[in-house]
Amino acid sequence: MGVCNLWTVLEPVKKQKSLSQLSGQTVAIDLGGLVVQSFKASQQSTVSDTFMMMRVLFYRILNLLKLGIKPLFVLDGSAPLIKAENLLKRQLQQGHSPSKSTERLKFKTCQEKCLPLLDALGIPYISSTGEAEKLCAILNNSQVVDACMTDDSDSFLYGAQTVYRNYEHNKDTTIKVYNMKDVEEKLKLNRRDLVAYALLAGCDYNETGVQGLGQTKSCTLIQDLKKSHPDVLERIQSWRQDSHLKALQKNVEELREFKKEKHCSSCLHLGSKSIHIQKGCEVCHTANDCTTDNTVLCQCPWHHLHNQTLPFATELGIRVKALRDDKFPDPRIIDEFLNDDVNSGVQDIKWKVPNWRDLKSVFQLHFRKNPDDFLKQVITAVVYMSLHGILPLSTIKPIKIEKSCQDNFKACYQTQWSIQDDGWPNESAENNTIKTEKCLLRSKFPLIVEDFEKEQEEKQKQKSSEKKKKSQIKKDPQQMTMNKFFPTRKRLNFDSSSTSKRKKIDDTS
Ligand SMILES: [Zn+2]
Ligand SMILES: [Zn+2]
Ligand SMILES: [Zn+2]
Repeated sequence: MGVCNLWTVLEPVKKQKSLSQLSGQTVAIDLGGLVVQSFKASQQSTVSDTFMMMRVLFYRILNLLKLGIKPLFVLDGSAPLIKAENLLKRQLQQGHSPSKSTERLKFKTCQEKCLPLLDALGIPYISSTGEAEKLCAILNNSQVVDACMTDDSDSFLYGAQTVYRNYEHNKDTTIKVYNMKDVEEKLKLNRRDLVAYALLAGCDYNETGVQGLGQTKSCTLIQDLKKSHPDVLERIQSWRQDSHLKALQKNVEELREFKKEKHCSSCLHLGSKSIHIQKGCEVCHTANDCTTDNTVLCQCPWHHLHNQTLPFATELGIRVKALRDDKFPDPRIIDEFLNDDVNSGVQDIKWKVPNWRDLKSVFQLHFRKNPDDFLKQVITAVVYMSLHGILPLSTIKPIKIEKSCQDNFKACYQTQWSIQDDGWPNESAENNTIKTEKCLLRSKFPLIVEDFEKEQEEKQKQKSSEKKKKSQIKKDPQQMTMNKFFPTRKRLNFDSSSTSKRKKIDDTS
């Protein structure tokens, strides 16, 4: 779930981008999230789960690599203690016997099954000591990566700056983009405000949040508090101890017991309207009737208390409900979000050349298909990884450009490649011949492109001159007869330039 309805709150700053716009970026990907999506995608298929999920994952990774996006996968570690506690609480509430999260265990096993595929593809991954989205966010916040790819909205509370959401593998994939900068500027919400929101509206660690408080009320309270408090989270944290709030709450309770005496419906001061009309109002300073000036507040004991509490009414109402939970605001939740204590363990992230031998065994074991069926796709990935600079350019060598072509509306060259790495089967020209984007190829291997274009030009010239010759040969017989015709006519002393004269000749002849 992440944080209750936070995506809805963030909707106004949502942008759409096509995946190809992310070319060149390093993106920390929550592997669990991608696994879940792959599962969803595979459920539409009849093939049973794990290996279909693996295939979906494989194609998604290839798609990213082909676009020049550098994926760094992040795995879930153990769940924070408060999450487990929450689960236990829910199980007891629902009348189930408490058990360890078998779901999480199953989920972790699934993630682990993906590791041989990532290893064989040469894609780096790291394990979080806690939630994967937490480490993604920390990596993003410390600028190790350009963005996070996750569907968990709590990534912002963990410090994420840019979040990509809803990655699905389609040809012209678009992705939802959220920037923390926009959240701060347009929605006037900072990271600490979002943590305050999670405490109020609910998140994975306190699923229900404050009773009766949804997304709208939580946001309104936060914006209200911001007017007089620079740090809303700090204000909420002070709710239990703050003596002023305690005194105000006492007022509220007193007011409930207090019998409000009759007030004038016209000036809102003590007394009835009919008496005010006859004898005037003390507060209004009138002898009869009352002024219509309602800005002078009534100072009766009831109003005295009421006017003190009025500006705090919303806050007090929510505070009372919140404090019914004796853990509120749970410092462990705040600590979980704001303490960047997760082991990042990032030294140097490297993308390696995929290992065909290892990939083969992954394909055989998990995909149950002939590995050679995937060879061409992996070669495509290696070529594009090298062209985009994820791998050294020396990994690939263009052998020959066969022809111009198109791929998904992009101008391409059908190019035969050789992979300069031991263990790669380079013997099949068919598998090694792939559609390669023209501009990419030209920027990295200008000479081979120039040669090909020259060759094409030559061929074109040759073709057109051949065409000329051919058409001349075709025309020749006619021209011959004309040439034969005219000289004979000329010899007959007629001017051949004039058609009218020629006509005459024809007539006379
Ligand atoms: Zn009055
Ligand atoms: Zn009055
Ligand atoms: Zn009053």
